[in-house]
Amino acid sequence: MELPFAEPYKIKVVEPLRRSTREEREAWIRESSYNLFKLRSEQVFIDLLTDSGTSAMSHNQWSEIMLGDESYAGSSSFFKLKEVINNLLGLPLFVPTHQGRAAENLLFSAMLKKGDLVPGNAHFDTTKGHIEFRKATAVDCTIDEASDTSLYHPFKGNIDLGKLEQVFRNNPRKKIPLCLITITCNTSGGQPVSMKNIREVSNLCQKYGIPVFFDAARFAENAYFIKTREKEYAQKGIRDIVMEMFSCVDGATMSGKKDAIVNIGGFLACRDKVLFDRISMYCILYEGYLTYGGLAGRDLAAMAQGLLEGCEFDYLESRVRQVEYLGSLLRGYGVPIQEPTGGHAVFVDARKMLPHIPREEFQAQSLAVELYLEGGVRGVEIGALLADRDPASRENRYPRLELLRLAIPRRVYTSNHIEYVAACLGNIYERRDKIRSGLKIVKEAPIMRHFTVELERC
Ligand SMILES: *Cc1c(COP(=O)(O)O)cnc(C)c1O
Repeated sequence: MELPFAEPYKIKVVEPLRRSTREEREAWIRESSYNLFKLRSEQVFIDLLTDSGTSAMSHNQWSEIMLGDESYAGSSSFFKLKEVINNLLGLPLFVPTHQGRAAENLLFSAMLKKGDLVPGNAHFDTTKGHIEFRKATAVDCTIDEASDTSLYHPFKGNIDLGKLEQVFRNNPRKKIPLCLITITCNTSGGQPVSMKNIREVSNLCQKYGIPVFFDAARFAENAYFIKTREKEYAQKGIRDIVMEMFSCVDGATMSGKKDAIVNIGGFLACRDKVLFDRISMYCILYEGYLTYGGLAGRDLAAMAQGLLEGCEFDYLESRVRQVEYLGSLLRGYGVPIQEPTGGHAVFVDARKMLPHIPREEFQAQSLAVELYLEGGVRGVEIGALLADRDPASRENRYPRLELLRLAIPRRVYTSNHIEYVAACLGNIYERRDKIRSGLKIVKEAPIMRHFTVELERC
């Protein structure tokens, strides 16, 4: 008999969870204006809001916390992290930042001006926020296959080279300071980018003299997909694949809260010394001195260790298999999901699940509220709320996909938790026709409204 799969770790510390009643949840979600960000964590049973900063550190990472060197300048923890970034990613220059968006802030402060374009594959919300805040435009060049949730494509994060070249041809070079490849592509469903596509994008950018950067938050999961889905890489080690990926780019922003498996941290790495000097100025201004960048020494040390653990094949296999497991259970219940499942999350297709609710009533957010009411499970809307309003017309933007994202924290939940979540959605699917109306906005912020928006039932 073939032995079943089992996690390559055991649990040393546990954190109690409490189940609530439906009546309690009805009151709590109403008090939270139907915005799941406003719930208190004790009001949530299983929290799949995000995999960002919510993962479980290993005992080796906790040891690094104790070894952290808190010197203001020249901390040994900084050099530990520097060695890992140099050896793992092959990027020579870097500054730590307090998280990924801070790295974006430094990069765009150094490179972007009003009216510029930043082409890439479905930019992450904070990335788009930083670009639009500077009156520049994020141009989505993702392949069309990504917006058909039922279509199987192994690399739905890929950039359409035709669309990208169109942007390069139709605009002066000086308006395109960089191209950004997000690995894996969070917005299109945690979907990976193939090595072939990374290389082709890099070559095209080189032809037009445009620097190319990674938004590298889930670079290790992307490398796992390259190994398991791109034939030529089946025999290669994760670290070799990672090295090859980064050899194609001029630099990267990184949220350590994802594949570096820490609760806080990030960095910005690059090759060009002139750019690095500009970045350094902004780092000191916004984050802190260059050897700590908004973090404690102990955070740098834990991130160095986490980067190495995040690239271990056995860990990545258990991580991606857990996501796949949730996907397969949902499929079994008939729940429509983005296929194939991504690296960090399962995305439920709310347009297919609740087709009778108008898009103006926020289908995916309505589904997120139903899931919370059903079992105290918190997911997050990736749809029209997140898409915000068009900066010029101030009209609501309706993206092609209305998704409910169920992001799975690393090394946190067991198979029983996963089965519980799937059963909740199975129940909702059964009674989907009885969900008659959605939500409307009562109050919203001018940018990145989804974090603070207040809603009520239609
Ligand atoms: C999380 C994330 C960011 C932002 O990082 P933070 O650490 O949350 O600031 C940027 N890009 C992608 C793809 C992400 O997933």
